[in-house]
Amino acid sequence: MERQVQRLRQAFRSGRSRPLRFRMQQLEALKRMVQEREKDILSAIAADLSKSELNAYSHEVITILGEIDFMLANLPELASAKPAKKNLLTMLDEAYVQPEPLGVVLIIGAWNYPFVLIMQPLVGAIAAGNAAIVKPSELSENTAKILAKLLPQYLDQDLYSVVNGGVSETTELLKQRFDHILYTGNTAVGKIVMEAAAKHLTPVTLELGGKSPCYIDRDCDLDIACRRITWGKYMNCGQTCIAPDYVLCEASLQDRIVQKIKETVKDFYGENIKESPDYERIINLRHFKRLQSLLEGQKIAFGGETDEVTRYIAPTILTDVDPNSKVMQEEIFGPILPIVSVKNVDEAINFINDREKPLALYIFSHNNKLIKRVIDETSSGGVTGNDVIMHFTVNSLPFGGVGASGMGAYHGKYSFDTFSHQRPCLLKGLKGESVNKLRYPPNSQSKIGW
Ligand code: NAD
Repeated sequence: MERQVQRLRQAFRSGRSRPLRFRMQQLEALKRMVQEREKDILSAIAADLSKSELNAYSHEVITILGEIDFMLANLPELASAKPAKKNLLTMLDEAYVQPEPLGVVLIIGAWNYPFVLIMQPLVGAIAAGNAAIVKPSELSENTAKILAKLLPQYLDQDLYSVVNGGVSETTELLKQRFDHILYTGNTAVGKIVMEAAAKHLTPVTLELGGKSPCYIDRDCDLDIACRRITWGKYMNCGQTCIAPDYVLCEASLQDRIVQKIKETVKDFYGENIKESPDYERIINLRHFKRLQSLLEGQKIAFGGETDEVTRYIAPTILTDVDPNSKVMQEEIFGPILPIVSVKNVDEAINFINDREKPLALYIFSHNNKLIKRVIDETSSGGVTGNDVIMHFTVNSLPFGGVGASGMGAYHGKYSFDTFSHQRPCLLKGLKGESVNKLRYPPNSQSKIGW
């Protein structure tokens, strides 16, 4: 690991990764990789998550092609020096902010969108002129293997490399000195990453998880709300960091919500959900058993069927859920949707504020004022009003968490900024010394009036 990081650092110090032309060439090579090897990439993702290749394309590949195109179109502007306002003493000088690459960065990905979670930060790291090591999740082993095979074929091998492995390899990797670490995964490991980074004073971006609430107001089109929630909750079998984790609503709405989600599930996945090419499976047995245990003692209003051999868990809704039960204590990360009843929006706001800050927050209502009020009186990584997931897809919005759901953000311009240092530069001439006398002793302060 040490040698590998050293090799990258040397290549970075050669200055090769800095010229814009080089960065664009690497991004174009990355785009070629995605286009030319699309079949291999899709089948790896599909194998890891029991996913159709069509869904693998729309869940992952499309995002990366969009991100690369954004960077290719905007990189000259993003990387350019931005002039800064000057004061009396620097009026004749040149003042600007010059984004500069940080150095060698580490990107650690999670398994649930194994391609996007490595590639999207990598696009930002390359665009900003860094060298990078990526460490895909070992749980999505097919995608990890294909990334290790393809990236060196298309990218500069001295500047970008892939390390594969599990806890022991990552632990070893984290002992090395990096200039930035972007980690995606659970909060417990986020703390381990931050602790390791602190030893070298390495800044971190932590893309973590949490329980993202979904408040449904009485004044709402329930048909549309439930269709959108069904899509975002059961996509990728609930294994989406910004999936609506649970629903908050008045008790009187509960049965209608169950009915409408049930009808939508049938529309989306047919009578026999197991046969649907659009419905995925749980990543491994450990997570399958964890999810099964969350159903214990709960009132299952819909779904609840499980099959250990194929790690199938049906789209499930739990009603009258006790906020103190286990399913409300941890991020669900599976196709189980608890409904917790609250008296009104005030109680919903308190409920959200009594818990850790979530990664996402969803509010459904005809009443825009109510949506804005919930936004103003709570905190979360991001928000979508009257839909779910969609704020993730807008790359002019920063994507990231707050509090326990993470720190820092990326996507589009924000990726570029995350992997850059905004360097303030002031260039003076050697003339104009008479003005400078104002700040020299004796009595400099009184001369300037400080
Ligand atoms: P995971 O098991 O794939 O772990 C993530 C990464 O951490 C992997 O690369 C793994 O090798 C590494 N890792 C695991 N244990 C480690 C240790 N002890 N020391 C060092 N590294 C270690 O994924 P996960 O954690 O199960 O991911 C699911 C979580 O990630 C959920 O909480 C989800 O909400 C969150 N998530 C967040 C985002 C986001 O963008 N904010 C995206 C996807 C997932």
